[in-house]
Amino acid sequence: MKSDIRVCSAWRDRHDRPIYTLSDTCPDCGSDTENSAPAPFDPGDPYGEYRRALNGRGR
Ligand SMILES: [Zn+2]
Repeated sequence: MKSDIRVCSAWRDRHDRPIYTLSDTCPDCGSDTENSAPAPFDPGDPYGEYRRALNGRGR
């Protein structure tokens, strides 16, 4: 199964946290994006942060 979720390739330099998008370029800084899997930062739950954001930042 292939993920269409991409992440800003320059997020470590440009942002405090990974910027997820479905586009080829970052909507925030315009850098190229790369496929978000395999996740470089949290292999246990690569989409946990994204999922929580969609749920409305709840605790
Ligand atoms: Zn960016």
